[in-house]
Amino acid sequence: MGDYREHVICHQYERVVYKLFWDYINCLKKLLKVVKNMSEVLNPFEIASRQVRDAAEKLGLREDVIEALIQPERALEVNIPVKMDNGEIRVFKGFRVQHNTARGPAKGGIRFHPNVTFDEVKALALWMTYKCATAGIPYGGGKGGVIVDPKQLSEGELERLSRAYFRAIAPIVGPDKDIPAPDVNTNPQIMAWMFDEYSKLVGYNAFGVITAKPLEIGGSEGRVEATGRGILYVTREALKALNVDPKGATFAVQGFGNAGQYSARFLAEELGMKLVAVSDSRGTIYNPDGFDVEDLIKWKIENKTVVTYPKAQEVDKDSTKVLYYDVDVLIPAALENQITKDNVDKISDKVKVISEAANGPTTPEADAALHERGVLVIPDILANSGGVTVSYFEWVQNRMGYYWTLEEVRERLDKILTKAFHEIYQMRNEKKVNMREATYMRAIKKVYDAMKLRGWI
Ligand code: NAD
Repeated sequence: MGDYREHVICHQYERVVYKLFWDYINCLKKLLKVVKNMSEVLNPFEIASRQVRDAAEKLGLREDVIEALIQPERALEVNIPVKMDNGEIRVFKGFRVQHNTARGPAKGGIRFHPNVTFDEVKALALWMTYKCATAGIPYGGGKGGVIVDPKQLSEGELERLSRAYFRAIAPIVGPDKDIPAPDVNTNPQIMAWMFDEYSKLVGYNAFGVITAKPLEIGGSEGRVEATGRGILYVTREALKALNVDPKGATFAVQGFGNAGQYSARFLAEELGMKLVAVSDSRGTIYNPDGFDVEDLIKWKIENKTVVTYPKAQEVDKDSTKVLYYDVDVLIPAALENQITKDNVDKISDKVKVISEAANGPTTPEADAALHERGVLVIPDILANSGGVTVSYFEWVQNRMGYYWTLEEVRERLDKILTKAFHEIYQMRNEKKVNMREATYMRAIKKVYDAMKLRGWI
């Protein structure tokens, strides 16, 4: 009898422990879920997919079709052995992704950066598909990247890596297949080496295989400045739409490379705007009286950074500090995920327009918060499409063997971007969506129509 009682007590005890254990596990699961919801998704491909999904759902597209609009058509990973100056071999990993070619050959830059990932390249390729559709140029989207810090390489090592990468992706690129261009840390000299390498492989001058080449070997007037030029046109139109006088309006630029420098130059020179804050990877500088843009560009080129510029009133090691000043216009021109759920509240209430020169600088949560606050965010796939549009002009000129003047290039670009801005702005107002949603809805429709006509979906 005593044994039986002991057995029952033991059994009840086990049940209590068992229940406590499972309560504890369920509690952990709930906690994990809360933490997961709290932390923002920062994977660029997940963000890009969400941007397409949100807009595609608003267009009433089916789930299977949305998947076809998101996933890349083709992706290549390459491992590139390069002989270093000290005789050692280093193997670099690179990627080339072709996202969607329904509207034309793939088009998109090549990034050299230590933080390049496959998902980042996939996101950048997807954004190219919808950027080309936004600008109305007959291309699909592509992108390439190599995991490398080019600042650690000698000129000879950089040339050998650039040539070897292009040899490795040569089977899938070509003037009618996929046309690369520069992106972060790549430039016209690197385009020249890549063009030369491909031309040797095919046995003729394949000018149309890559864009943003130097003028001497098939480049176009106005290509180097094109992204900044595009920022000028869309920002000008946005300020006009909001009835803001650009003369004397203040702006800040995050990232002072190709996109940042030319944006700053044109906003100051052509609209009379005042640049008060700038950052690069080493920090932020601020001067409420405004910087002399030409002088600052000269300093950056000679000294490789803006943080040592003597005419700054404030210097901060934080590269994101640039985003928090009282300015009318913000130009993020560095990398992805700079304006997030965590820092969006620090952006001044004075900011009226954000022109995204960089690709993916704003996360969806931050985007929604800015929209709610009434900030007009001109999304990357519209704002920075000046670069790919003049790349398209270069490709057209290469195929004709007939070259345009700088004025012709600027005029054609202005027409394309001004028209795109107003169509999208009107759609935003009519459909009561934000600028990014309107831009994606318009672009997705074009890609969808091409895929449908070709019988792909
Ligand atoms: P770039 O290499 O010429 O310049 C990048 C600049 O950003 C440098 O000044 C660097 O110091 C700075 N930087 C890097 N990390 C930073 C950080 N965390 N905070 C602040 N600054 C930082 O590159 P780019 O061609 O000017 O490209 C910049 C952005 O614009 C990228 O997102 C690129 O994809 C996009 N973009 C460029 C073009 C183009 O034609 N160059 C076209 C479309 C989009």
